[in-house]
Amino acid sequence: MNRDRQRLLYRLNESFMPSQRYSIILNTVLLMTHVMFGVWYYRIHTPILFYYNFFSIAVFVMEYYVLIRKKHKTYLIICFSEIYIFMFMNLFCLGWNYGFQLYCFGFVTSMMFIDYYLYDGTKIHITTRIVVALDILVYVAARVYFYSHEPYYNLADSRIEQIFYLTNTILEFALIVSFVTLYTRTAFGLESHLQQVATHDELTKLYNRRSMDEIIDRLEQSDVEKEDIYIAMLDIDFFKKINDTYGHDAGDRVLEQLGEMLIALEKKYKKANFTPARWGGEEFVAVLHGNHVQKKDVIEIFESLRKKVEGMVTVYQKREIRFTLTIGVSRCREGEEIRNTLKRADDRLYEGKENGRNRVIYETK
Ligand code: GH3
Ligand code: MG
Ligand code: MG
Repeated sequence: MNRDRQRLLYRLNESFMPSQRYSIILNTVLLMTHVMFGVWYYRIHTPILFYYNFFSIAVFVMEYYVLIRKKHKTYLIICFSEIYIFMFMNLFCLGWNYGFQLYCFGFVTSMMFIDYYLYDGTKIHITTRIVVALDILVYVAARVYFYSHEPYYNLADSRIEQIFYLTNTILEFALIVSFVTLYTRTAFGLESHLQQVATHDELTKLYNRRSMDEIIDRLEQSDVEKEDIYIAMLDIDFFKKINDTYGHDAGDRVLEQLGEMLIALEKKYKKANFTPARWGGEEFVAVLHGNHVQKKDVIEIFESLRKKVEGMVTVYQKREIRFTLTIGVSRCREGEEIRNTLKRADDRLYEGKENGRNRVIYETK
């Protein structure tokens, strides 16, 4: 479970983490922000901040190199450290009214996200928790400190204060929104990925048995006329022999190919609500319903599938594989439980196997 989640997150990392281009744009925004601050520090005569800001600029220039080398973790660590030191310096030099303490809120959000992101199912990353605790402590301590202390520079210019405060508020919101977006995107992505894994068969991309069970249950509850429902059970003939002759991977390729054909039928017969699923091993089930669906159409669908499979060649590692299908089809009766119809389709399939395979058997009654 542990490793699975890591793998899953790793895959999501690939698809949800900002792209190289986006990261470079973001880095440029941060760099430009520092250039802007540099101009302001010069104008308000705060040499410590002005000179320190050169260091910040140098850091973000260097960050391009880190990004190009795709060291995202290093990038984040450097970026957060820089912003934190920057916040600290500004708080110390300019005091509470310039709004630099607001970055503490963004830190909590981003650390919580990183905490979630790094969580591997067992080990809690204590570092992120410590950073969060320190962050809150810094905020509260700074608040208390400035009740009784003056900042290093006492500029006494409320307009400059306002400009700084507003700028920091906007930057702060941007930071929070970015991380919350990243969090929700990752969580939704993870959710839909898990949903796909839980409901579909990985190899054939069809619904798995559990999903088909649910589909049948829902159909049972619905107001679809029972007599409009058809069920087919499909089974590859002598599949074991295919595995034995060409290897298990070749067998998998055959299953995959049949999956593709069934998905194509699902699209083609959308109006008939054609829904295929992998029932197990080399057995498949398909449900159809619709008030315009006739018995002859159903037979035609499966007969043409059978013929197509019979005439088809699956090429695996330059070897040609041929296979056939036996299909049992039944129609639901009034008042009958769909599971029973399924059982009857399975009986017809068995009959087809008994009578030489490679055929479609439709119930006679
Ligand atoms: P029949 O014509 O009577 O259906 O014979 P069969 O050989 O197809 O049926 P049997 O039930 O004897 O064998 C099914 C084989 O399918 C056995 C199993 O190893 C193989 N199988 C089940 N799942 C998979 C899979 O995911 N991949 C591969 N390659 N083989 C599988
Ligand atoms: Mg078989
Ligand atoms: Mg079988």
